[in-house]
Amino acid sequence: MSLLSVAEARERILTHFQPVAAESLPLVECAFHVLARDVAASTDLPLFDNSSMDGFALRAADVAGAAPDSARTLRVVADIPAGATPMVSLTEGQAARIMTGAPLPQGADAILPVEDTDFQDRSAGLPAPESVQAFQAVKTGDNVRPRGMDIRAGEAVLQAGHLLKPQDLGVLAMLGEAQVRVYRRPRVALLSSGDELLSVDAPLESGKIRDSNSYTLAALVESAGAEVIRLGVAADRREAVEALLKQAATLQVDLILSSAGVSVGAFDYVKEVIESDGRLDFWRVNMRPGKPLAFGEYRGIPFIGLPGNPVSAFVGFEVFVRPALGRLGGLKTVSRPRVRVRLGEAVESDGRESYLRAEIREENGILTAHLSGHQGSGNLLSLVRANALLIIPAGVKSAPAYQEVDAWML
Ligand code: AMP
Ligand code: MG
Repeated sequence: MSLLSVAEARERILTHFQPVAAESLPLVECAFHVLARDVAASTDLPLFDNSSMDGFALRAADVAGAAPDSARTLRVVADIPAGATPMVSLTEGQAARIMTGAPLPQGADAILPVEDTDFQDRSAGLPAPESVQAFQAVKTGDNVRPRGMDIRAGEAVLQAGHLLKPQDLGVLAMLGEAQVRVYRRPRVALLSSGDELLSVDAPLESGKIRDSNSYTLAALVESAGAEVIRLGVAADRREAVEALLKQAATLQVDLILSSAGVSVGAFDYVKEVIESDGRLDFWRVNMRPGKPLAFGEYRGIPFIGLPGNPVSAFVGFEVFVRPALGRLGGLKTVSRPRVRVRLGEAVESDGRESYLRAEIREENGILTAHLSGHQGSGNLLSLVRANALLIIPAGVKSAPAYQEVDAWML
């Protein structure tokens, strides 16, 4: 069986995934959902010319040349709190007290901050003075946020395929988007396989271990914006695997994800069950950890079988499953950003594309990577102590300290 490159395996997998359906959700529920349509601004932002300071709205010409020893006195003809509609139009020698965010009155072209006047008291409820002395000059437009300064009505704000972050919800609120078209969350059925697996609360038995992958993988699925349905552990018997896969197929999931049982030999029964009602390829991918990978489809639902070793399962998820869930979930960009870091020590590989667990920290202002422990695929602790995966390309067997490499921050 020939080795597939990581990129090739990922491409093959991705061709089988299309975005799920979109739905309309109330804005309050949209954080970390993927936007399903482009959003253009329905209004200018800001909505109207407004003050960026607490101070006095005035005509800049009236305070030209003002200085602490050469004050200009203006008559205060209005008081404009935020939320008010100014009813005045300023003429020569007039000012209006104004609060941050309040609309500029007609005739005003600048704001003089309260600090630059003789009226510095900002206690709540204090009425505006009858006149005010200006100790500074201002230019036309100073401390004014003009209508449309940030965005013009009709301008593109957010694109379909964008993961909505908290600040995006804010801008959607500014634009009055009460209901938002987003992709529904993809649904993933998750199972573990192996006769040796015990649940976390079961008493230990000789030769058995606790099923840890289902916890890690379930959390990874959720971190990728999908819903997880945990089906538990399938024993190493045909009927056990078949029962869980049949259950997964009735749940209308978008992906069936399993770990273990994909090494040669043990693999056969998973292959047999899936091929009884679908198809399955068993790939050897040129990567470390996580060489064996199963990919196929059961009753029309895509199936990914990750290796059983905990670190291999994790890395396989990041390399293959996260992009697949991104595609399902409608994300425009499914590849994770890479950062360049400097090796703090020499590293070795066997020539496969290697994902090394490392701790990256700043040393003399440079992001520097140190391996976080021994790199065996069963050693989850070195992954726990890592904050990044270093990516050593295929064909590279060693890299010296100080060399730059790519990394994924975890
Ligand atoms: P397998 O792919 O079935 O050959 O399993 C490879 C290794 O991963 C074995 O040491 C298994 O015991 C271990 N393993 C398999 N499934 C899990 C799991 N759910 N949690 C922790 N370790 C597992
Ligand atoms: Mg097994």
